Amino acid sequence: MGLLVVGSIALDSVVTPFDKVENALGGSSTYITISASYFSAPIHLIGVIGSDFPEEHIKLFEKHEIDLGGLQIVQGGSTFRWGGKYHYDLNMRDTLFTQLNVFENFNPVIPENLRNSSFVLLGNIDPALQLKVLDQMKNPKFVVCDTMNLWIETKKTDLLKVLGRVDVLVINDSEARLLANEPNLIKSANSIMKLGPKYLIIKKGEHGALLFGNDTIFSAPAYPLQDIFDPTGAGDSFVGGFTGYLHKSRELDFESLKRAVIYGSTMASFCVEKFSTGGIEDLTWLKIHDRFIEFHELSRFADE
Ligand code: AMP
Repeated sequence: MGLLVVGSIALDSVVTPFDKVENALGGSSTYITISASYFSAPIHLIGVIGSDFPEEHIKLFEKHEIDLGGLQIVQGGSTFRWGGKYHYDLNMRDTLFTQLNVFENFNPVIPENLRNSSFVLLGNIDPALQLKVLDQMKNPKFVVCDTMNLWIETKKTDLLKVLGRVDVLVINDSEARLLANEPNLIKSANSIMKLGPKYLIIKKGEHGALLFGNDTIFSAPAYPLQDIFDPTGAGDSFVGGFTGYLHKSRELDFESLKRAVIYGSTMASFCVEKFSTGGIEDLTWLKIHDRFIEFHELSRFADE
């Protein structure tokens, strides 16, 4: 059975200290599906675009063999647009604008033949929509969920309902502190785990990621990149690689989740090397695996 992904598909306008792009391909499920496509298949994309969505982007999804049967195209409508500006410290980002457009009335309808998908990845969208997706699924085996500060601040009740139904929650460090209302990250993780997820991943930008399980913590290093051009989509590329690896391996024990975190970190490191999806469009399995091995070497040490 396939991996079902729901999330945003966007045209992003991004400014960094080095350059800027306008109306470039973006959106949470865009990065997720392209990243996951290097690991597993079939990947089913559930989302919405307007009739202004460039054909070349559709071709990119097709090149990565992503199933677009659940993609809604609103004739005469405009695609979701997001604008962001990065500071000199690339961990700091301001949202310049969010134009929901066709996303405003998006009703995620899961095609009948996909309702028994075993893996579900809820990309960063309104938790009310994430709940609608879960309500249509027939007993999925593994549910991974991403979210952001906007939903923690404005849709907490719905978000808490989602958290009661997911296996893994993936958020960044500031979101974890916000969700738990607690400055210490470990205490935050402990209280978030009580909200439902079996596992929690806290991303720390260029400082790696923490995986929390039942009384266990795994600390993943960050890849020491010299050139970071555009951090947009790093978190989504992470969650796409993480879930894509697990979907392929079908092993869901803590050791497998650790490997999945490193594959996720690998995909995030490629993502930030170019603007938009440029860093993850043309990878090879060999390139991905080589960097995975480099990650392994980064934190391996003899104990005597
Ligand atoms: P990330 O850098 O991993 O946080 O993801 C950035 C992507 O999230 C961009 O490509 C945006 O188009 C998308 N995005 C930003 N805000 C929202 C939102 N409110 N809902 C859905 N997607 C969003």
